[in-house]
Amino acid sequence: MIYADYGYYDFGEFLKSKFNIKVQKISLNAGFSCPNRDGNKGFGGCTYCNNQTFNPDYCKPEKSITKQLEEGKLFFATKYPQMKYIAYFQAYTNTYGDADSVISLYEEALAVDDVVGIIIGTRPDCMPDKLLNYLSVLSQRVFVLVEYGVETANDNTLIIINRGHSWGDTVDAIMRTNKAGVMCGAHIILGLPGENVNDMLYTAVQLAKLPISTLKIHQLQLIRGTKLLYQVEKDELRIIKWNAEEYIRVCAEFIQYIPQRISLERFVSQSPADLLVSPKWGLKNYEFTNLFNNYIKANKIKQGANA
Ligand code: SF4
Repeated sequence: MIYADYGYYDFGEFLKSKFNIKVQKISLNAGFSCPNRDGNKGFGGCTYCNNQTFNPDYCKPEKSITKQLEEGKLFFATKYPQMKYIAYFQAYTNTYGDADSVISLYEEALAVDDVVGIIIGTRPDCMPDKLLNYLSVLSQRVFVLVEYGVETANDNTLIIINRGHSWGDTVDAIMRTNKAGVMCGAHIILGLPGENVNDMLYTAVQLAKLPISTLKIHQLQLIRGTKLLYQVEKDELRIIKWNAEEYIRVCAEFIQYIPQRISLERFVSQSPADLLVSPKWGLKNYEFTNLFNNYIKANKIKQGANA
């Protein structure tokens, strides 16, 4: 519940409600592939995706999960010796593969000292029952959150970006996951090709109906080596070219449709400078968050005001 006349349910607060200790996510690259690249769901991947943007340097697939976690822990351990960690299976589709092999990777992560939970990033069309049953049992033992790449509730846009799944797949995955007693998060992108602000707010209204616990909002980024960049450069597709202030205004409107039970993890993403073509706002994530927080304070914007 937000008691001030502005604000939102911050992800830090959400983690505090789950753990009574300081916890930090460590991103992992477990060497998964993606069914939207290898032909299982589609070829070529989502048009905006260049997977090199996903991971920090310490997480390379040639390193074991244990090694990636141990190296990730070194970043924090000297400053915060009491810190605990959440293994974040981030790169590609972290439920895609033989279920037993996938489960053994999760178990490897959970066997590392001070790892107290896992977050699994995946696609809504990639949650087999066998894995969900396992996660259902695991959830009773440790913190588990499945983060679905939803991107938008608009099926036309999902086709334009070659996402390879529909909004119906998203609803189905989230409902099944919730029914299994496993927490869900969603990830969406604002500014996808063909979408205006009303289309984006439609996604907010649809998400508000679903049993998700967390939400990540990102701006669309044009990344080198992607089909989307090619399409925009050739004028085959148009995207909104907004500055940080314009984007902040849309984010602020968006969160008013998101109920306060959903924690907001982030509002912006920052791809490596050498890969990012636009938008180049020159803001670090925390600088953007400060601007956003100042904006919602000055304009008395409260998450869920229109939900
Ligand atoms: S964004 Fe995710 S689902 Fe889409 S191509 Fe990249 S890894 Fe695959």
